[in-house]
Amino acid sequence: MVQATRIKKLPPYLFARIEKKVEEAKEKGIDIVSFGIGDPDLPTPQPIVDELCRQANNPANHQYPTSVGLLAFRQAVSEYYRETRGVTLDPREEVVTLLGSKEGIGHINFCYVNPGDVNLIPDPGYPVYGIGTLLAGGESYLMPLLEENAFLPDLTKIPEEVARKAKLMFINYPNNPTGAVAERQFFEEVVAFAKKYDIIVCHDAAYTEIAYDGYRPVSFLEIPGAKEVGIEFGSLSKPFNMTGWRIGWAVGRRDVVECLGRLKSNLDSGQFQAIQYAAIKGLTACQDSTKELCSIYEKRRNLMVDGFNQMGWHLAKPKGAFYIWAPVPKGFTSASFAEYVLDKASVIITPGSGYGQYGEGYFRISITIPEEKIKEGLRRLAENLGKVDF
Ligand SMILES: *Cc1c(COP(=O)(O)O)cnc(C)c1O
Repeated sequence: MVQATRIKKLPPYLFARIEKKVEEAKEKGIDIVSFGIGDPDLPTPQPIVDELCRQANNPANHQYPTSVGLLAFRQAVSEYYRETRGVTLDPREEVVTLLGSKEGIGHINFCYVNPGDVNLIPDPGYPVYGIGTLLAGGESYLMPLLEENAFLPDLTKIPEEVARKAKLMFINYPNNPTGAVAERQFFEEVVAFAKKYDIIVCHDAAYTEIAYDGYRPVSFLEIPGAKEVGIEFGSLSKPFNMTGWRIGWAVGRRDVVECLGRLKSNLDSGQFQAIQYAAIKGLTACQDSTKELCSIYEKRRNLMVDGFNQMGWHLAKPKGAFYIWAPVPKGFTSASFAEYVLDKASVIITPGSGYGQYGEGYFRISITIPEEKIKEGLRRLAENLGKVDF
């Protein structure tokens, strides 16, 4: 059977070559240190796990949940925003529960994108923004995230006719993969731009609770007017080490939240209620765990950045998210450097080109591994890479 055009259009898996090499190395018994995995290594806080077990034992939770989520969960999200951000949200109309934020980021496209429509997509970026656009039949207009602009999109570079046509704008700060953060002024520009051109802003806030050195990332909804132009995707995955649990939310503009909820009610039947109750436990009782987590990441970040800088890089310490985005040395592409590092030092790094064309020339490393592993990886790199030039 011939596959649908949308499936044939999916980009090839960029890490296939590296993964094959990793497989080969493992078969040969070579021990590999991975700086590539962007998935928290530490366990979910115990009160959340205990709550899941307790709720799983209640037969009332064994039936179909509602697709927009338990009102209790939506209330907890709304309370979380009030307490931590001073933002008021109506739990009935302005909050929808997601099976992880990635699910909502993908599906929102089906709410607004007709074939041929344009979305504004940051590049480099989390692949789902562009893939969701493509699956809905839309086209991506790339907003380059350049080092010279502190990895923020330059909205003044978006042509007038593109802006007028655009449906959705995806943004994400603290940013994966660059580690960049955005200040209020940037978000204010986004709100004004979205108002002017009637664009729905989709802020991916996966990392707003993951920050260092006392820095507090901004939530898009804190910006005046944000709730009239867009939504924010939130997730328990990163602040509570719950990537495997699949729970998150979209909050903000009412008609958008309603539309996403309506779409979802036709596709999925919501998240297991026991998981929703466990997530409530996280939002209401585990904020100290997130603080501890950030202090662990902060130490690892310092170790990693200092280690690379001793080898000749000039990296700044990212204020948020858990990635370091670094240029490849002279004479390499993203892919060739990743292969070189794997061959020479048995260390995995992620080629920046996997996050879009403007990621070429960079690589991403993640600090979701224990300090001993970071030290071991750095030792291997220092001993085997030789002098690096930029
Ligand atoms: C990890 C991550 C998410 C979270 O995805 P979930 O589906 O909620 O687990 C969203 N956006 C970015 C950029 C991420 O890195």
